[in-house]
Amino acid sequence: MITVLSGGTGTPKLLRGLRRLLPDPDLAVVVNTAEDCWLYGNHLSPDVDTVLYLFADLLDTETWWGIRGDTFATHEMAKQLGVDAFIKVGDRDRATHIRRAELLQEGMTLTAATASIASALGVTAQVLPMTDAPYATHVRTPEGLLHFQEYWVRHHGALPITEVVRLPPGRPPATRAVLDAIRGAEAVVIGPSNPVTSIGPILECRGVVEALQEAFVVAVSPFLGTEPISGPAGALMAAVGREPSSLGTFQLYEECADRFVHDIRDPIDIQGAVRADTLMVDPEHSEALARVVLDLMRGR
Ligand code: GDP
Repeated sequence: MITVLSGGTGTPKLLRGLRRLLPDPDLAVVVNTAEDCWLYGNHLSPDVDTVLYLFADLLDTETWWGIRGDTFATHEMAKQLGVDAFIKVGDRDRATHIRRAELLQEGMTLTAATASIASALGVTAQVLPMTDAPYATHVRTPEGLLHFQEYWVRHHGALPITEVVRLPPGRPPATRAVLDAIRGAEAVVIGPSNPVTSIGPILECRGVVEALQEAFVVAVSPFLGTEPISGPAGALMAAVGREPSSLGTFQLYEECADRFVHDIRDPIDIQGAVRADTLMVDPEHSEALARVVLDLMRGR
């Protein structure tokens, strides 16, 4: 089994490639939950849903969120009625959020609720929320301390950030399933996800770094030069005092990664790192990068 640490865009592109080379039951994915929120009584777990929809062959791979071909009738009607519908949720996607809320309100853990939804969708990979405890990324901006979704979706990331804060304070425990998946893996991949908002929260869960230090870990950079391929990783790295680049990412992961992969176009060399084409513009490029990662694991 290969265990992959994931957010909701870059790493799912790599998972698309890994699935072409390995059967789904051989993959376990530890997913960031620090972007989760309750909205209109429903529970959104954006990165978990992207990974679930990928394995259920439902994902919209133009946007890397939501369900391909979904409709937005409920969203439009809610807006007309005056609901503050700042996150555009599709009709079928909303059904997942309704079901998750129902299961959580019945007292299920997020891990159990995710397993239930995964089974209903026919997903055979293990999709594991990093923790069952609340732990959300907030950013300090001139508009105040905002939940990441407020910053990224409502304000389109167009605010300067001076600080990244996780709430509630204190590190949450990783679930037993997460620690077992890391300890029982042939190797672990830290995917090309946002180091501050996607991978950072997973590494902060109690027990994860210690488990990774015992495992063989390959990390893949989400940066090309000083820019991420997409999203706000640059501004967030700067806000936590790190260089927004592959080198800055490498330094963040240094204590737990055995191999580091960054792009052939990156302007700087990182000693000991492996170069590859990391731009996963289509399924073939995803597969090629997945092959590089698997070769590193097998040739170690
Ligand atoms: P989020 O939850 O939507 O923020 O998703 P992630 O954290 O999983 O992914 C965002 C990160 O993926 C960004 O920092 C991007 O630079 C990175 N990314 C997106 N597409 C690619 C790609 O094709 N290759 C690589 N190497 N990184 C990518």
